[in-house]
Amino acid sequence: MAVRSVFRFVNWVLLLDTSGSPPIFELECTSCGTSSEAAGAPAEPQEWALKHASRTGHTMFRAVHTSFFRATRTEARPSPP
Ligand SMILES: [Zn+2]
Repeated sequence: MAVRSVFRFVNWVLLLDTSGSPPIFELECTSCGTSSEAAGAPAEPQEWALKHASRTGHTMFRAVHTSFFRATRTEARPSPP
Protein backbone atom coordinates (compact mmCIF):
# COMPACT_ATOMS: atom_id res chain seq x y z
CA MET A 1 0.00 0.00 0.00
CA ALA A 2 1.38 3.35 -1.00
CA VAL A 3 0.91 6.45 1.05
CA ARG A 4 0.55 9.58 -0.85
CA SER A 5 0.47 13.08 0.55
CA VAL A 6 -0.30 16.19 -1.35
CA PHE A 7 0.93 19.47 0.00
CA ARG A 8 -0.32 22.60 -1.52
CA PHE A 9 1.97 25.60 -1.25
CA VAL A 10 0.65 28.84 -2.55
CA ASN A 11 2.59 32.06 -2.76
CA TRP A 12 0.89 35.39 -2.54
CA VAL A 13 2.03 38.76 -3.82
CA LEU A 14 0.70 42.21 -2.96
CA LEU A 15 0.32 44.47 -5.99
CA LEU A 16 -0.76 48.08 -6.40
CA ASP A 17 -4.32 48.08 -7.77
CA THR A 18 -5.51 51.24 -9.50
CA SER A 19 -8.60 49.65 -11.08
CA GLY A 20 -10.94 51.24 -8.53
CA SER A 21 -9.04 54.44 -7.79
CA PRO A 22 -5.63 55.90 -8.51
CA PRO A 23 -3.42 56.86 -5.53
CA ILE A 24 -4.85 59.81 -3.55
CA PHE A 25 -2.70 62.62 -2.13
CA GLU A 26 -3.66 65.10 0.56
CA LEU A 27 -1.86 67.47 2.95
CA GLU A 28 -3.11 68.41 6.39
CA CYS A 29 -1.96 71.38 8.46
CA THR A 30 -0.70 70.12 11.83
CA SER A 31 -1.44 73.50 13.47
CA CYS A 32 -5.14 73.87 12.66
CA GLY A 33 -6.14 70.56 11.07
CA THR A 34 -7.28 72.08 7.80
CA SER A 35 -6.74 69.80 4.81
CA SER A 36 -6.23 70.26 1.13
CA GLU A 37 -8.62 68.68 -1.32
CA ALA A 38 -7.80 65.07 -2.18
CA ALA A 39 -6.02 64.90 -5.54
CA GLY A 40 -4.61 62.33 -7.93
CA ALA A 41 -1.14 63.92 -7.79
CA PRO A 42 0.81 65.73 -5.03
CA ALA A 43 1.13 69.05 -6.91
CA GLU A 44 -2.32 70.44 -5.99
CA PRO A 45 -2.05 69.66 -2.25
CA GLN A 46 1.46 71.14 -2.22
CA GLU A 47 0.19 74.34 -3.82
CA TRP A 48 -2.60 74.49 -1.25
CA ALA A 49 -0.02 74.06 1.57
CA LEU A 50 2.09 76.95 0.30
CA LYS A 51 -0.97 79.22 0.05
CA HIS A 52 -2.11 78.12 3.52
CA ALA A 53 1.36 78.86 4.94
CA SER A 54 1.47 82.33 3.41
CA ARG A 55 -2.05 83.12 4.63
CA THR A 56 -1.80 81.72 8.19
CA GLY A 57 1.89 81.34 9.07
CA HIS A 58 1.32 77.62 9.71
CA THR A 59 4.35 75.81 8.34
CA MET A 60 4.03 72.09 9.24
CA PHE A 61 1.94 69.68 7.18
CA ARG A 62 1.20 65.97 7.33
CA ALA A 63 1.11 64.11 4.01
CA VAL A 64 -1.68 61.57 3.56
CA HIS A 65 -1.13 59.20 0.68
CA THR A 66 -3.74 56.50 0.06
CA SER A 67 -3.09 53.63 -2.32
CA PHE A 68 -4.92 50.37 -2.79
CA PHE A 69 -3.25 46.97 -2.96
CA ARG A 70 -4.64 43.59 -3.95
CA ALA A 71 -3.31 40.26 -2.69
CA THR A 72 -3.00 37.77 -5.55
CA ARG A 73 -1.97 34.11 -5.65
CA THR A 74 1.06 33.56 -7.85
CA GLU A 75 0.70 29.79 -8.33
CA ALA A 76 -2.22 27.91 -9.83
CA ARG A 77 -3.95 25.20 -7.81
CA PRO A 78 -2.25 21.83 -8.53
CA SER A 79 -4.22 19.62 -10.88
CA PRO A 80 -5.64 16.39 -9.41
CA PRO A 81 -3.61 13.21 -10.06
ZN1 LIG B 1 -3.22 75.69 9.42
